[in-house]
Amino acid sequence: MDRIQEQPWTWSEEVWRGKVEHVRAGRSLKPTTWKNGARCAVALSFDSDHETNELRDGGKSIGRMSQGQYGNRKGVPRILEALAKHDAKATFFVPAVAALLYPDEQRRVVAEGHEIGIHGWIHELNSVLPYDTERDLMFRASDTLEKITGQRPVGLRTASWDFSPDTLRIQRELGLLYDSSLMADDDPYELLDRGEPTGIVELPVEWIRDDAVYFNMHRFSGLRPHTPPTAVYDIFHREFERAYEEGGLFLLTMHPHVTGYRSRIWILEKLLEDFAARGDVWVATHADIAAYVKENA
Ligand SMILES: [Zn+2]
Repeated sequence: MDRIQEQPWTWSEEVWRGKVEHVRAGRSLKPTTWKNGARCAVALSFDSDHETNELRDGGKSIGRMSQGQYGNRKGVPRILEALAKHDAKATFFVPAVAALLYPDEQRRVVAEGHEIGIHGWIHELNSVLPYDTERDLMFRASDTLEKITGQRPVGLRTASWDFSPDTLRIQRELGLLYDSSLMADDDPYELLDRGEPTGIVELPVEWIRDDAVYFNMHRFSGLRPHTPPTAVYDIFHREFERAYEEGGLFLLTMHPHVTGYRSRIWILEKLLEDFAARGDVWVATHADIAAYVKENA
């Protein structure tokens, strides 16, 4: 966005109010009780970006590409083992190009009872695309995931949570059950399109509950990991504990190429133990949670 050309201070009330009202949080979809009387729901998401992070940026760094391959070779298998140990079901958001690179990984994820959701074509930023291009990529991504896994995706997480002014319109055209890219609440809510209820469930994310924020590094920028794994666990655990107290949703975003390492995978393993220790926590896919709140809120 060109801030100099935009001159927001000259906008009429209609203009700035229109921007705010375009995509908005509507009624809360937080139910009074969760499935089977559970007190709290947990939605674990793993964004299997793999090489598409580097491809999106031009695909020149073989080093960053190899980090992406780590996500497939070590990250996803470690995560699937941890989930299987606790019989916990989760959602994997996969760019179509990553699914085409690793179709066997996607089939294993689905065979083990997990969900696969849309995560763009090649991890592109939606806000730089015209409507037609964004729409074409989202539909092709959905078709590709269905072809590989045999299941039509019902939810979408925009890559880098980059939700464009056209994304909601495209989600409605796709007939999706839920989005998981926006941040207006801790608990599920219904998305409004210029004030009109859409029936689409938002399962809200937050950078606070994202491993990449604390752990990412980039050799040629100032980006360095700044939080030790124990502190990251502490943040995630506090988010979960308060969600449990409030009877709400704890949604956590992790990445196989970020959390799959020997020094970090324990964070997921420990959280899974925390959920089990509470006893009345419903750990489920985003699709199952979205369908439940749509029925029961
Ligand atoms: Zn991603």
